[in-house]
Amino acid sequence: MAIGEFELIAKFFTDIGPRSAAIALGIGDDCALIDPPAGRQLALSADTLVADVHFPAHGDPASIAQKALRTNLSDLAAMGAEPLAFTLALTLPAADETWLAGFSHGLRACADEFAIPLIGGDTTRGPQLVISIQIVGSLPRGAALTRAGAQAGDSVFVSGTLGDARAALDYLSTPAALLDDAQRFFLRRYYEPTPRLEFGRALRGLASAAIDISDGFAADLGHILARSDIGAEIDTRRLPLSGALRTRVEAIDFALHGGDDYELCFTAPPQHRAAIVECARATAVPITEVGRVVAEHGLFTWAEQGRRVALNAAGYRHF
Ligand code: ADP
Ligand code: MG
Repeated sequence: MAIGEFELIAKFFTDIGPRSAAIALGIGDDCALIDPPAGRQLALSADTLVADVHFPAHGDPASIAQKALRTNLSDLAAMGAEPLAFTLALTLPAADETWLAGFSHGLRACADEFAIPLIGGDTTRGPQLVISIQIVGSLPRGAALTRAGAQAGDSVFVSGTLGDARAALDYLSTPAALLDDAQRFFLRRYYEPTPRLEFGRALRGLASAAIDISDGFAADLGHILARSDIGAEIDTRRLPLSGALRTRVEAIDFALHGGDDYELCFTAPPQHRAAIVECARATAVPITEVGRVVAEHGLFTWAEQGRRVALNAAGYRHF
């Protein structure tokens, strides 16, 4: 007989992540209870992953769990928040125990790595696989890195490399045995993005605005510019590319418009540059200055002979 709802929760979703003094009550009641740390604000965010929209339905369940939690952790990183807890709402076409064991394994590995406990959720049957995680973090009151605050003269930085996750889309259905090293690297970047939590925290008080790159660099920088009511000039030759992507003709296009990178894009005034470089070094996060914020609205780059042109800011859109 198929496993029941409560048996499923007990078997696959209890004791995921560390115990935490901030969690007064975890899984098993109508609500979990959190004791917010004194003097801090809670940061909340939810992200939903739909099978065959955000990941291939037949992908490795442990990798899918990693991606689901990591994308949520990335939102905390982009606010400069520290992880506190998360909940998991699962919609499953069937209670497939092999799939659930793999998913639970990946979720546990990620929750342990980032020291974040699973404190509740919901489990339902539905026509297709949907994974919805709500994440809770905390940060000192008033210290959040928001999208508003970029000012003319600020530098625009990005962490890590861009476009790798977009490159992975071409190999999502390739059998593992046929993948070369570059393709395996792209897939790792797609399934296991690195939430820049420690670095995001270090940017508090230094960055003027920040966002994590989920829709594509140009689109997400566009969100900072819209919220900050300002523009930017980007030197596309400076976009950070991995060794694996650099040789591809689509490299710049993927870096500008490919989604799913989960790197940080942030702005900062020149007087904080040295401190930011030091934070990047201390947290071992590579950063690249790719442009600057300008008073004129829009997103610009340079073409031949130094001619300034508008940069298409389109990213991934669901509707
Ligand atoms: P209720 O009916 O009161 O909403 P449920 O019967 O849905 O509660 O869930 C029972 C308990 O198990 C709750 O504490 C809930 O938070 C938890 N839970 C349900 N599904 C999951 C899941 N997928 N992961 C973690 N906890 C879950
Ligand atoms: Mg419920």
